[in-house]
This record gives sequence, C-alpha cells and structure tokens, in this order.
Amino acid sequence: MANLDAVVAIIGAGPIGLELALALKRAEVDYIQFDAKQIGYTISWFPPQTRFFSSNERIAIAGNPVMTDDQGKCTREHYLGYLRGIVQQFGLRVRTYEPIVNIQQEGDQFVLTSRPNSGEQTYRVQKLVLATGGTDHPRVLNVPGENLPHVSHYFTDPHQYFGRKVLIVGGKNSAVESALRCYQAGASVSFSYRRSGLRERSIKYWLLPEINGYFKSGAITPYFSTCVKEILPDRVLLTDGISLECGTTAREVQADFVLLLIGYEADMTLCRLAGVELIGSGQIPRFDPLTMQTNVPGVYVAGTAVGGTQDKYEVFIENCHVHVDRIVASLTGAPPPEAPAPFERPES
Ligand code: NAP
Repeated sequence: MANLDAVVAIIGAGPIGLELALALKRAEVDYIQFDAKQIGYTISWFPPQTRFFSSNERIAIAGNPVMTDDQGKCTREHYLGYLRGIVQQFGLRVRTYEPIVNIQQEGDQFVLTSRPNSGEQTYRVQKLVLATGGTDHPRVLNVPGENLPHVSHYFTDPHQYFGRKVLIVGGKNSAVESALRCYQAGASVSFSYRRSGLRERSIKYWLLPEINGYFKSGAITPYFSTCVKEILPDRVLLTDGISLECGTTAREVQADFVLLLIGYEADMTLCRLAGVELIGSGQIPRFDPLTMQTNVPGVYVAGTAVGGTQDKYEVFIENCHVHVDRIVASLTGAPPPEAPAPFERPES
C-alpha cells in the first residue's frame, strides 16, 4: 500500500470537528483536517450578534471556558473568535476552503480528492471522520418567485429591513427570533405559518410570550394556517390552508422583503461517497453509538451530522462532545467512555 498522508482525516471544522482535532493531537494521533469553507462556517451565517441558545459551558471546546463580558450567553461573533483562539492556541492545522469532492476506498485505506483553488489534490488516510454538520443549506419551498432578489432563506442583518415591509415564513425559533429582531429594528412585520398557531414546545420559553404579545397587540401581523403560493416583487400570495393542495382562497400580503425561515438540511454527500448507509428521509447515517463508527469500517461520524436532516432538533453541539471521546477511544483501542448524564433540558 502507498504511504499515508495522515492516519486520520477529519472532514469538517465546526466546533466538534475542532474538538476532535484537539483530542487527536493530545493523543498523538496523526491527523489532517479539511473544511470546504472557513472554520465554524455554519455559525458565520447567523445574523450579527445572535446569542446562542446553549449556555457557554455547553458549547466550550474540550472544557476551555467561554468567558463573556456579562457572563451571558455567547454571541456569534464571540464564539467565532473563541474558535479561532482554540485553533491558534493549540496549533491546530485546518485546510480551510479545501472541499473534499471524492472518497475512494483502496484496501484498508481511503483516498480523498480535494479541490482547493489551486486544483485537485489527493490524500491517503487510514481512517475518516465525517463531521460535516446538520445544517448545510436552507430548505426550499419550490414556489414561483422564490429566487427573486428580495427573497432570502437566511436572516442576516435586520438593519436592512428598517422602515420596510417584511413577511417572515416559518413557525419555529428562526422565524420567531427574526420576526422579533426585524420588528425591533423598525420593520413592519407579518408572519405566515402553515399551522393554526405557534406550538409552545417548539419555541424557546423566553421568545414565546414576546411574539405572542406582539401578535395580540397587532404590532406583528400573524397569518396562521397559510402557505406561500407565489412570491411577486411587491407582495406574496398565500393560500388559506395548511398545504398548497388544500388551500384554495388566496390572500395577498404586501412585502418588500420575504424571509423563508423554514429550516435547514444536511449535506450527506460525503457519507454517501464513503458508502455509509443513510436511513429514512432524514438521511441519518448508520453508526455504532459506542464508537461512532459507521457501517463502513474505518469511517466515523461526529457532531450534528449524526442526526442527518433533523425535523425536530435533538442533536446539538452541546450533546455531541461525547462523540470525540468515543472516537478517540475507538482509534486508540481504549474502552468506550461511559455515556454522560443527559442534560435536564436539551438546551438551556
Ligand atoms: P426548524 O426548527 O426546522 O423549523 C422550521 C419551520 O419551518 C417549522 O415551523 C416548519 O413547520 C416550517 N416549515 C418547514 N418546511 C416547510 C414548508 N415546506 N412550508 C412551510 N413551512 C415549512 O428550523 P429553524 O427554526 O431554522 O431552527 C433550526 C435550528 O436552529 C433549531 O435547532 C433552532 O433551535 C436553532 N436556532 C438557534 C437560534 C439561536 O441559537 N439563537 C436561533 C434560531 C434557531 P412545522 O412547524 O409545521 O414543522
């Protein structure tokens, strides 16, 4: 067999991918790490100053404290700075902007093809960890007008909506948080949700009373039990009904901007290329929860990628730290660590 470039390749440099890199370094396991974009990329497209729902100790990497000025939850900016600090402090080497585009198994080795700006490269490794995350790209509605320039599947800076009419589509935390922030930023906000009302168990307990208060006072206009039928440059056609099929009566809502905040999907392409079995519509990889090794010997999964595309979020950064210990134990031949005690609440 040809010489190895590293024993282990980690694909993905989000929080858990980085935590694994640090653990492998400490265990003196030779590794190489890739990310298609920058470290913490998914977090980088959160809107400015978004605060994590998880408290700081739950998103800390390898127990390195996340300290904020006010001891409150970390913002996007603070956490990205923290991740950069982790990489620098521990001398982690990440090949950023180097997407892996092919995986081939040759005997007990894996040949990875990457495509950085400079052209294709290949790397040969013995083990592979896929830490590619669970929210690669936004879900789409597939309705006419969805690609118009005033329509976005991401909520970015609320400042751009000041003094303008914004229609927000969705019914969970992203939609609710962005409706509150757009309203506070001086936008005129309406809200379309396919169900008959917000569901208490789906919305953070500190956001729900606020949005309900604005609905009640008329400050934000809710259109419950509606679906988007078509988006036009100055308005949106909604059906009355929870699906396009059953909704007949169209109503028009004026909108200068439309935010389709209907969730995100994982990109499981690399799992597929590696031969990992993907289960169900969520494309959940098959793996042994004691070791994180998939049905393909030598291929592991870590981080939120283990949940595939989640309809109801149960896999977060905070309950993925244990993947690192399990993978390191499996790679070094140590017994699997005990499962940590579950948090009383999945997020605090
Ligand atoms: P989500 O939890 O997947 O919710 C998607 C919403 O869009 C649901 O209400 C869903 O309706 C609706 N939807 C899905 N497909 C639709 C379709 N085809 N047509 C119309 N509506 C559709 O996504 P999310 O709110 O973006 O949250 C994603 C994750 O990010 C969660 O873990 C959330 O807690 C987290 N988050 C964190 C922060 C923060 O840390 N500050 C902020 C926001 C979100 P149903 O309700 O009918 O399923």
